[in-house]
Amino acid sequence: FAPWNDPKAKPYIQFDGVTKRFGDFTAVNSLSLTIFEREFFALLGASGCGKSTLLRMLAGFEEPTAGRILLDGQDLRGIPPYRRPVNMMFQSYALFPHMTVENNIAFGLKQEGMPKLDIEKRVADMLKLVKLEQFAKRKPHQLSGGQRQRVALARSVAKRPKVLLLDEPLGALDKKLREETQFELMDLQQELGLTFVVVTHDQEEAMTMADRIAIMDKGEVMQVATPAEVYEAPTSRFVAHFVGNVNMFEGKVAERTDKTTRITGATGAQIVVENGAAATGADIIFAVRPEKIRVSSKKPADAVNALEGEVYDIAYLGDMTVYHVRLDDGQIVRASALNAARVTEDPLTWNDRAWVSFRPDAGVVLAR
Ligand code: ATP
Repeated sequence: FAPWNDPKAKPYIQFDGVTKRFGDFTAVNSLSLTIFEREFFALLGASGCGKSTLLRMLAGFEEPTAGRILLDGQDLRGIPPYRRPVNMMFQSYALFPHMTVENNIAFGLKQEGMPKLDIEKRVADMLKLVKLEQFAKRKPHQLSGGQRQRVALARSVAKRPKVLLLDEPLGALDKKLREETQFELMDLQQELGLTFVVVTHDQEEAMTMADRIAIMDKGEVMQVATPAEVYEAPTSRFVAHFVGNVNMFEGKVAERTDKTTRITGATGAQIVVENGAAATGADIIFAVRPEKIRVSSKKPADAVNALEGEVYDIAYLGDMTVYHVRLDDGQIVRASALNAARVTEDPLTWNDRAWVSFRPDAGVVLAR
């Protein structure tokens, strides 16, 4: 499933130069973005970056100040929320406290005037879908947080919208339940064959669930890509920093050959990297993820890039160990190693002299 790589795939949701201003504040700035049918799409960004505003415009709660939003080719401007084939699930769930689970789920269907028998059937289907058959007669306060979340989900898909919008859907759940629910949401999306657009500030959540992620900053999209691309090939310093941990080696391009770029750091240390299109003399960063960096007590004989320092701290995390090494120029480098793969490594400890090394293709060259 990768319609974004198929030039013939038809866009489903299109934001076309969309701007939203509140007074003289620009919440969304001339933003263009395409989402495909049946995609699980995440809008990821820090608080205030405009992601909820984008979702609210798609739902019809706000109109763009400029630009167009198209759904399946149709311009949505002027179409009220209840007439859009879009439903929104809010973080607060907004369940009716005095109504049973089944009545909560049935509420929107009744309002629509669906015949009673059809409603019963649909509610039963929805209860089954979210595995709450046993809880039909309960009220929200008699449910756990996770169960309430599933009622809200059942209610928001009961009318069979084509697109489900989820604003921080798992924000109220504790970590373990969040993780479980992420997988449930993915299953549900597959089963229903709907397009999901989820807003989150939690990068792990976006990485887990989404087919593609749009990373937003100050009302603009910084990058749209699959979770793996966002992590492995960030196109900006912002994205590299925002998603996962990263080491930034700053320097100036000293020399370029066909394949490699030699970079000189502020203290004269040299590194050689691939993937560099930057011109000689340019100020750049080589961004390297911690798991691409090796730590050892001796300089590895084969290492192209090796920098010396001192072990600053070591954290054992069960599946892996994280080392912080303070280089002699003061920079702290984070390196992580899977414990399963660490058996032959040196038994490094605090304050030991150590070398960090990485391959020329371990990271990406970014503009500073
Ligand atoms: P959060 O995760 O905190 O909800 P967000 O990325 O979803 O953040 P938005 O809710 O889209 O951000 O808000 C983007 C910016 O627009 C914020 O600075 C917010 O204060 C502003 N904003 C949103 N709605 C309004 C409004 N109705 N009037 C004025 N400013 C608004």
